[in-house]
Amino acid sequence: MDDSALAFLKKLLETPSPSGYERPVQDVVREYVRSFADEVKTDVHGNVIACKNPGAPVRLMFAGHCDQIGLVVTYIDAEGFVYSQTIGGWDPQQLIGQRMTIWTKSGAVPAVIARKPIHLLTEDERKQVVKEKDLWLDIGVKDKAEADTLVQVGDPVTLALSFQPMRNGLANSPAMDNKSGLWVVIEALRRAAQKPLSCAVYAVSTVQEEIGLRGARTSAFGIDPHVGIAVDVTHATDCPTIEKKQQGDVKLGGGPVVFRGPNMNPVVTKRILACAQSAGIACQVSAIGRATPNDANNIQINRAGVATGLVAVPNRYMHSAVEMISLDDIDHAADLLAAFANGLTATDDFTP
Ligand SMILES: [Zn+2]
Repeated sequence: MDDSALAFLKKLLETPSPSGYERPVQDVVREYVRSFADEVKTDVHGNVIACKNPGAPVRLMFAGHCDQIGLVVTYIDAEGFVYSQTIGGWDPQQLIGQRMTIWTKSGAVPAVIARKPIHLLTEDERKQVVKEKDLWLDIGVKDKAEADTLVQVGDPVTLALSFQPMRNGLANSPAMDNKSGLWVVIEALRRAAQKPLSCAVYAVSTVQEEIGLRGARTSAFGIDPHVGIAVDVTHATDCPTIEKKQQGDVKLGGGPVVFRGPNMNPVVTKRILACAQSAGIACQVSAIGRATPNDANNIQINRAGVATGLVAVPNRYMHSAVEMISLDDIDHAADLLAAFANGLTATDDFTP
């Protein structure tokens, strides 16, 4: 991974993008793709669509969702404590003790989420699981009047954003889901563009995945691709308490995960694995027996159907402040998608 690609990943991770509030991160994407895409469009839903070789007879779509889970401000009480609803799927236990940021019209407002100390919890309270509706954001103001000068109902909130490299090429950050997959599809376009291409490649930074795979639906309709590959994170199972018999054997650093199952076109899957083999990229294979809970689902059933693949980035501690991935895995995933794009021609038949 070269320095500018790594800097792009950090920038994605440090830029907020709760579902519906993706514009700041889309600005980062638009800026990065400008130097190598032939065409960059943003649709009215907010999807950023970067294309190399538009007009070619076969269209390949890579989708990486740019949105992250967050909160949205719903109410400020008389003391200035801020209440919210969730955007996307949270385990409320993950929020207790976190530094947060409220993204307001006048900038980032730091906040914390906590609860009363263990000394003050009753026997009963200690046993209870905290619900999100019982949590509040503390922004350190004196009262509601002061809070009102800063925060408005409808402002989005994220965990405090930061990137922390770790040993063995690993790194942690909030929103590795799915800034890592977004990075893969954009970087794959850049790498594919350096070699001959006989298809049109669309790398899409999709919006609103976390609230129902919505940007993939609108962008796929607009692009009308023949083949689509979604890139999202998947659960790494190489840490305590995860059941491999159900979730499979997925390791950080073991390479990109190629998914099989009804949501994946078997010819596309076979082709991805063949590309990996000829490029010498180690892969892991996982299976899921239902429509996937990610962009691959909506891409596959776009219009009259799209030959769809799913490549995933192993991620520990998904939907927490410390989502952990391997930088080598995303680097290899970008190479794998680029190889797939460079090998795709108009005569390829993906009829299963
Ligand atoms: Zn995701």
